[in-house]
Formats: sequence, structure tokens, C-alpha cells
Amino acid sequence: MPDSGTSQKKPFEIAREALRQLTVRKLVPTPQNYQTVYNEIAAIPDVQPFPEAALRQIAAELPVKNPGQERQLALLESAIGRRSWAGVQNALVVYAGFASPAGGSEATTAATLIGGGTSPSSAPALTTGFLEQIARLIEYTQPALGDEDARFNEQTQTIVSALRKPETDVLSAKSLLANFSHRVSFMAEDQAEIKANLLRLLHLIFQNIGELSLDDRWLQGQIDGLMAASTPPLSLRRLDDLERRLKDVIFKQTEAKGRAMEAQEEMRKMLLTFIERLSQMTDSTSAFQAKLEDNARQIEQAKTLTEIAPVLKDMVGATRGMASESRSTRDELQAMRKQTASTDAEIAKLHQELDRVSNLARHDPLTGALNRKGLDEAVQREVSAFKRKETPLSVGLLDIDNFKLLNDRLGHASGDAALVHLAEVARQSMRPQDTLARYGGEEFVILMPDTPLDKGIEAMTRLQRELTKRFFLAGTEKVLITFSAGVAQVAPDEPGDDAIKRADQAMYLAKRAGKNRVLGS
Ligand code: GH3
Ligand code: MG
Ligand code: MG
Repeated sequence: MPDSGTSQKKPFEIAREALRQLTVRKLVPTPQNYQTVYNEIAAIPDVQPFPEAALRQIAAELPVKNPGQERQLALLESAIGRRSWAGVQNALVVYAGFASPAGGSEATTAATLIGGGTSPSSAPALTTGFLEQIARLIEYTQPALGDEDARFNEQTQTIVSALRKPETDVLSAKSLLANFSHRVSFMAEDQAEIKANLLRLLHLIFQNIGELSLDDRWLQGQIDGLMAASTPPLSLRRLDDLERRLKDVIFKQTEAKGRAMEAQEEMRKMLLTFIERLSQMTDSTSAFQAKLEDNARQIEQAKTLTEIAPVLKDMVGATRGMASESRSTRDELQAMRKQTASTDAEIAKLHQELDRVSNLARHDPLTGALNRKGLDEAVQREVSAFKRKETPLSVGLLDIDNFKLLNDRLGHASGDAALVHLAEVARQSMRPQDTLARYGGEEFVILMPDTPLDKGIEAMTRLQRELTKRFFLAGTEKVLITFSAGVAQVAPDEPGDDAIKRADQAMYLAKRAGKNRVLGS
């Protein structure tokens, strides 16, 4: 309890007395000292502020030489966080107990401090922990620099183990690092060059594939996609897309080659049969010719009619045989011509059939967006990435408004072109990591990783705005395409398909509410 005499002092009296006491006691007139004396005169308990920043700095400078010290430093930091003096004291006392076994001698302790070891007080406060960090950094970055260069691998091993030796001082570490970083700079340049060259090669290959199949619109679209997906900046997601597209192209090319070879083989067989028949016919024609000449000679030499009768009989037989042979050859040739025509038709049908086959692949031939199969795979991939990284994933589903009307008014071909236009605008307004898929006739799904619901709604609204800026041109007529959309954020443990269903329901509500709008689920 403060005594009543002091408590009656007025503030200005206390202040004056505090200043006097500072002089009397020869205290440095700092605000801190003034406050202490003031509190004493006013009988206010003197609670010192907790020097958190200063303590944290001390804790940061303390070396860690063993797990015991590491643990105590953690406790020290937590005590500082709790502003507990008792905790700070306790951690520091136990920390000191973990000093080196040689009686905690400063010289021995300094052996693990870097800075020459001889003069620990002037040594910079670098610890073995610091050098260990550098060693780890080198180890972590090495795979990025490739492992083809045996000398560089050896150099890396050497520097990492040198950095981990307790006797390595800062000067030798510095010179090792200087040499090493010089070499790393070359290696990094090499790797960048290798990457650029590989990409150039890849583009050449894509171009080549594209030029081999000029007449195939689907393939040409895929080649453009491949080119775009392999243009930096590369990401694992884009490489994944690249791989899927390339698989589709290879699949389709293999299929095309197989079918073309089959057709060619069939043609070859027919040609062979035709030549065979032709030579048979020539053979029998010349045999017939010889027979007739022979018969003519016999007739010339005949003196009586009875001599001529058997010759005539012979001639009639030969002619009849020849006629029937001609007939059968003609029938055969006719059958063959029919077969040739049907083989021709088959070859002509090849492209159409390949487009049907490409439905088994992952891209929609009209718009180049993923098809249902491609979407299923992409959903699986994004959902598992979302679970691993715990970042939000949203799905948007859009359905073009009054599309049937557009088809009826402008024709089905214009309807198709409108779908292509929408897909193109969507791809341009999406981020590279988003995925576009054709969900049904005039319905599209957009997968948006790292996107919470509100941002997903924003993205779909942005696409709507883009479509109002970029009209679809049907001939010379500008046509405004609008859509209604629903967006759902995938919930933890929710299957991707269920989220798409929720987006679909939200889209349906958007239609009901008057179309041309985006609703969240
Ligand atoms: P709503 O605004 O309610 O969505 O009306 P809508 O006319 O867009 O919807 P509805 O489902 O009645 O019609 C969709 C039309 O889309 C019917 C179909 O002919 C057309 N369609 C579906 N796939 C294609 C396609 O590949 N090309 C073209 N041109 N039209 C297609
Ligand atoms: Mg529809
Ligand atoms: Mg529609």
C-alpha cells in the first residue's frame, strides 16, 4: 500500500521530485530512469517492459552445436514469445549445461565457430549450422544443374563434404565457394541452353508432323496446341497437357498408317489378280488365234466338203470355248471393278472414320477443347493436386443461351463456327493453368485450380465480358453470344463429378433467372 503522504502528492510535484532525484543520484537522465524514479516517488509498482526484440536477437546469435542446445533454443524462443522471464532463465541455464564437454572452454567452443578459430570474440557469428545450410543448398540445387558432368559432380561432393568438416574456416570455405560458384554459373548457362535447344527441336518435330498431315484439320489443330503448350514459360501442368496431346497425335497417326497400309495391300492384291487375268486372256486369245489359223490352212488344203466338216466343228468348239472364257473373264473383271470402287470409297471414308476414332482420344475435334474422356482425366488430376496442396479448386459450367435459335437462323455450320469462337475466346481469357473441356453440345466446363468460389465467379464473368467485346462473325453479321454459367468450389472429399453437377444446377438456376448470368453454387 502506498503511504497516504506520497499518494497525496500532485503529479507536477512528483515530476519535480523525480528530476531532483535524478540529479541527486547522478543517474543518466534517460526516459527509462526518469520513469523508474517517478514510479518510485508516486509509489507505482515498477514493471519493466519486456525486451522482446533484444532477447530474440540474442537467441538468434547463440550457436547450436548439439540437439540439446537446439531444443533449449526452441524453448528460449517460446519463452520469449510468452514473455516469461522464468522460461528465459530456465532455457538459458539448461542451454549452458549443453556446452562442449571440455569444461565449456570458450576456445573449444570457438573451434566450431567459423572465423579462424583463434580469436572467437572477433569472429563473425557464423556457425557450423550456417555452413551446413550452404552444403544443403548445394545438394538441393544440384539436380537442376544436371548430372552429366562427372567433374562437376565430383567438385560438388568435395565442397559439400569440406563445408561439413568442423575444421573448415571461413576463409577456405569462401575460396571453395568462389571457385564453385564460377563453375555453377557455367553449368546453369549450359542447362538453359540445353532446355532452349530441346524446345527448338520439339517445335521442329511438331512442325514436321503438321506438314505431313496438311489435309487433316483435327491434326493441324493439335499441332497448334502442341506448339502453344511447348512455348515457355513451361510448367509441369503444361508439360502434362503436352504429353496428352502428343499421345493423341501418335495414336491417330498410328491408326491412320495402319488403315492406309491395309487399303494399299488390298489394292495391290487386286492389281495382281487383274494382271494375271489379263495374261490368261492374252494366252487363250493367242491359242484361239493359232487354232483359227490352223483351221484356215486345213480349209484351204481341203479338197472335199467332208474334209471341211470336222474342221468347222473344231472351229465352232474353239470359238465357243473362247466366248465362254471371255464371258467369265469379263464377269471377273466387273467384280473386281466393283471391289476397287468400294476400296476407293473405303479410303475416302478413312478420314471420317479417324475423326470418329479420335473421339476415343481426349480432344474434341471441332473446338480442340478436351472431350469428356479428357475432362475426366483432368478432373482426376486437378482434384488430387487440390488434395495434396490444399489450395482451392473451382469448376465453372457454361451453356450457351438460345443456341438452337442461332442454329435455326444461321445454319448448323455457323453454329459450329460459333462454338469454335467461344472456345477460342475462353482459352484466351483463361489462365494457362485452367482447363477447358466441351461437356456436351453447347456446354463447356472450365477447371480453375488455386481458385476460390468468388474468384471463379469473377473469371466466368470476365469471359462473359470478353464475349461482348469480341463478336462472333457469321459472314458479315455480328452475332453476340451469351451464356449462363454456374460455378462450384470443390469441397474437401467431394468427388470432382459432384462439384460439376453442383455447377450444372447453378447454371440451370441462372437460366431460370433470365439467362446471361453467372451464379455460384
Ligand atoms: P437455352 O438458352 O435454354 O440453353 O436454349 P438452347 O437453345 O441453347 O438450348 P437447347 O438445349 O434447347 O438447344 C441446344 C442446341 O444446341 C440443340 C442442338 O441442335 C445444338 N447443338 C448441340 N451440339 C451442336 C454442335 O456441335 N453444333 C451445332 N451447330 N449445334 C449443336
Ligand atoms: Mg444445353
Ligand atoms: Mg443452351
